[in-house]
Order: sequence, then C-alpha cells, then structure tokens
Amino acid sequence: LVRLRSRLSRSQTTLGKGLLTLLSRDRLDEDTWEEIEDTLLTADLGVAATQELVDNLRTRVKVLGTRTPDELRALLRDELLGLIGPDSDRTVHSVKHEEGPAVVLVVGVNGVGKTTTTGKLARVLVADGRRVVLGAADTFRAAAADQLQTWGERVGAHTVRGPEGGDPASIAFDAVKEGIAEGVDTVLIDTAGRLHTKTGLMDELGKVKRVVEKHGPVDEVLLVLDATTGQNGLVQARVFAEVVDITGIVLTKLDGTAKGGIVVSVQRELGVPVKLVGLGEGADDLAPFEPAAFVDALIG
Ligand code: GDP
Repeated sequence: LVRLRSRLSRSQTTLGKGLLTLLSRDRLDEDTWEEIEDTLLTADLGVAATQELVDNLRTRVKVLGTRTPDELRALLRDELLGLIGPDSDRTVHSVKHEEGPAVVLVVGVNGVGKTTTTGKLARVLVADGRRVVLGAADTFRAAAADQLQTWGERVGAHTVRGPEGGDPASIAFDAVKEGIAEGVDTVLIDTAGRLHTKTGLMDELGKVKRVVEKHGPVDEVLLVLDATTGQNGLVQARVFAEVVDITGIVLTKLDGTAKGGIVVSVQRELGVPVKLVGLGEGADDLAPFEPAAFVDALIG
C-alpha cells in the first residue's frame, strides 16, 4: 500500500485531494458540484460513473447535513469503492488442471507493456513455486522475443520462440505442447498487438486461441492497457473485446498518471475486472489490484 501510494502520488494532482478540497467548501453550490464533475472526468472516470458518483454524493451530503472532512472522506471512499466493485473475483487463473497447464494469453496493443507484464507475471508465479513456460508469440515486434527470453532466463522459465516473422499461432501451439510435456503449471503467451485492421487482429488472435484450444482450454485472456492513454485505451479495449473473450484487465503505467479513474471506466466498458496493475518498469512492479488500497491511494 505504501508503495502504491507513493507511486500514484508521483503524479502531482491526485484525484482525491482535488475532490476533498472541493467538498470542504463552506457552500456546496451548483458551481462546486460542476467542478467536482470536471475533476472526476479529468481523472478518466467516464461520464456515466461520474454522474452516478456525483448524484450519490449529493444525496448523501444532503441527508447527512453537517459534514466534517473525515465524514466527507469516508463518503467519497465508500462511493468510489462501490463503483470499483470491491467483491469482484480478481484471481488470475494460473493453476494447473486435469487437461494440463493453465494457459494465459496476454493481449494488447504494441507499447502498452505486454511483454514486460508477461515477464513480471512469470516472476511472480515462479516466486510462488510454480513452473512456467513462456511463449513468444509476438513475432511482429522484432525485439519482443529476445526481451521475453531475457525475463525467462532471469526467473528460470524456458521461452518457446519461432523464427522472426513466424506464425504466432504455431509458436503458441508449441509453447503449450512443451508445457504439457514438461508438466509445468502455467504457460504464459505474449501475443502481437497489431491493430492496423480489426480483421487482421481478429484473424491472428482468434487463430492463436483456436490453436491453443486444441490442447485444452485457455484459462485466462489478460488485456493489457496503458493507463496513461486515457480514452484511447478504452477504444482499444472495445476492439479487443470484440475479437476475443477478455477475462481480466492489466492496467500498466499507473505510476505515471493522475488518471486512475480509468480503472472504473474500463471495468464498466468491458464488464471485466482489473486484476493486476503495473506500477513501474522494475521486476517487482506488478501488483494484484486491491480496490480498497487503490481508493485509499487515490484519495491520498
Ligand atoms: P509491449 O510492446 O506491449 O510488449 O510493451 P513493452 O513490454 O515492451 O513495454 C513498453 C515500455 O513500457 C517499456 O519501456 C516498459 O518498461 C514500460 N512499462 C511497462 N509497464 C510499465 C509500468 O507499469 N510502468 C511504467 N512506468 N512503465 C512500464
């Protein structure tokens, strides 16, 4: 929590500080409520969630009458937590089953932090005592396979890779095959994020998934989004969700943005929980997403 808070507050204006200042005004008039709305929208909470939060806050502040800063903070915390969904299942399904290793596909547009996230996740799983095989199916970006292999060597996980520009589906297939043969717990597959055409992406990701399913079920499809890209990230998310069934979201680069509200808007958009967050470029900077800790860090 301390680390999360310090990473998030690196960005100058945390959402909560602005809101708490506004809420502490002597008179909560229309202008103030509008400023509160603007603050929430600027933090990328999205229009619908902003409206809901403001309506609920207005009602509760009215009912409560007197408001101390602590009461306001508690109200805000409660409302934000309610929007995030404190009870969603945020487990990353990575435990081996009857059919063989758990298979996790990592998808997203180039540059969002897909390969880094795959490497960090491998590290977390290995530290947890799991055996992991990595599949370097991002054959679009030349350095991606090398980058993944470096992560693999660091944590002690073998990386299955193909020739440069090779067929992503066949690499994914081989990675799962090796995972089964070696009896490992988890196969993590880094995919390419070619978003120039939807059909291209659909063909490629769809094929990767179909081919992997010849071995057994895909347990998890993690969509990686860069939190700093705001509404653009939501557009990407929508396209991916049309192509493949997303089971969880990873929000990266939360250390570099004041737009933490994206957590709320992306969950609403996809109806899928944020499961992991990236808080930096280092090996230990991937954390499970914990709503309460996140809200506390946001409010500051
Ligand atoms: P890919 O093209 O999606 O595979 O992207 P990469 O994994 O190569 O990451 C792109 C850049 O983002 C790299 O410089 C990473 O170190 C950086 N990056 C990834 N995750 C995070 C994060 O959580 N925080 C920050 N600050 N940088 C990150």
